[in-house]
Amino acid sequence: MTIATQEQTVVDAVPKALYIAGEWRDAAAGGTLTVEDPATGEALCEVADAQPDDAKAALAAAHETQASWAAAAPRDRGEVLRRAFEELTERADELALLMTLEMGKPVAESKAEIVYAAEFFRWFSEEAVRIEGRYSISANGQGRVLTMKQPVGPSLLITPWNFPMAMGTRKIGPAVAAGCTMVWKPAKQTPLCALALADILERAGLPGGVLNLITSSSSGSVMEPLIRDPRARKLSFTGSTEVGRMLIEQSAEQILKVSMELGGNAPFLIFEDADLDAAVEGALLAKMRNIGEACTSANRFHVADAVAAPFAEKLAERMGALKVGRGTEDDVRVGPLIDEGAREKVHELVQDALGKGATAIVGGEAANGRGYFYKPTVLGDVSPDARVLKEEIFGPVAPVTSFESEEDAIRAANDTEYGLVAYVFTSNLERAFRVVEGLETGMVGLNQGMVSNAGAPFGGVKQSGFGREGGHEGIEEYLETKYVAMNL
Ligand code: NAP
Repeated sequence: MTIATQEQTVVDAVPKALYIAGEWRDAAAGGTLTVEDPATGEALCEVADAQPDDAKAALAAAHETQASWAAAAPRDRGEVLRRAFEELTERADELALLMTLEMGKPVAESKAEIVYAAEFFRWFSEEAVRIEGRYSISANGQGRVLTMKQPVGPSLLITPWNFPMAMGTRKIGPAVAAGCTMVWKPAKQTPLCALALADILERAGLPGGVLNLITSSSSGSVMEPLIRDPRARKLSFTGSTEVGRMLIEQSAEQILKVSMELGGNAPFLIFEDADLDAAVEGALLAKMRNIGEACTSANRFHVADAVAAPFAEKLAERMGALKVGRGTEDDVRVGPLIDEGAREKVHELVQDALGKGATAIVGGEAANGRGYFYKPTVLGDVSPDARVLKEEIFGPVAPVTSFESEEDAIRAANDTEYGLVAYVFTSNLERAFRVVEGLETGMVGLNQGMVSNAGAPFGGVKQSGFGREGGHEGIEEYLETKYVAMNL
């Protein structure tokens, strides 16, 4: 099979319709939206473009199915996830190609995301049978306190394009395990991974109406009526802080239970006692995973004065050597950004930093040719007022600044409205704990450049959001606690 045929085959295998109440159906108004390959700017295919009426049908299905799904045996709910985990794992190569075609990241990284995404299903298949309440004796000795956990109810899930499969499974896994039904709206740029996942869940035995998937080019107008509808009980959103803030306001009307996984501005701290080579490896991972388009991407490097220059040089050497190209090609490490708007924003931040005195040690410009490529870039001597240190870059750009003392490093790290993740490289144990305790973030990578792990509570503080996904905490987001008071 030629490469082009192989690509066409994986795209053709995906259903292109909305999935509502266990049926694949066209959008009521018949519209479609175009899915594009960001490496070429060319259309891959058309998928159904949901309108508000389709969204309402999806919520109606979720609402009607809620009681029966909540009553399904936890083991049965878990087994659906387990079977879906197995199919995701078996089909990882084909699904990785699909992901690369619509999102752009290199196939090896797409495959790593499929594995990560599948892990949420495995993890929550195991959590489904471990939902527990408690029984205790009141302080007065007379009363008894009984608590039980129950599914929160129909849940609205909204996910971004940057991890099109894992951001879905991270919400669907715990919702299925807890006994919640769902309406899922993925990002318009990456509907194919979502459609493939719904197809897998259907074949894994998920009853119709539990997961309802609507792909749409008009996210605001399809989701707002659902968020304001009393039949919805929960909103779980992953995306930008700007949109998250607006959705929190909308969800106030029905007092929804809300989880928000929002933007980041991760500081990466390197102390003079760090293993510099390990720090460079960690930096490459934290900066270049997902082409820098991750909420967890290292956004700014704060390096001890004594090692700032050698660190920047080593990082520039490694970043400059990474092959840029279409994610389907051999050895490519840096794919295209998601669209022209994203590329323009990245270049604007670089230009602003250069205008304020920074130097481009490597890169600093868009790559030639079609597709939305940007050259891996390391900026030295970045001024503290440069926008690149304050705004989420979402691209392959590493600004490096230096600090004099541990206190300065912590102050600089916390000087942001975001608080998702920070990275710390030091070989001094006492310092490691002092710094970790001083950081205002939900997660810390200590001497490592990646924190993502299905078995760990992922999430942020400050304007990076609230709620946790993954780990034991992940299922709590889809459960309510009911307390029963008794006197004996
Ligand atoms: P975004 O613009 O906020 O979009 C995220 C999702 O929200 C998409 O599905 C989008 O749909 C939808 N959306 C946009 N406007 C909406 C509205 N008015 N009502 C309802 N839904 C709406 O973010 P993005 O650019 O796709 O993703 C990048 C952002 O996600 C970054 O800030 C990144 O840090 C964050 N992120 C956070 C985490 C985390 O766990 N904390 C993980 C990954 C990404 P359409 O695109 O189809 O309009």
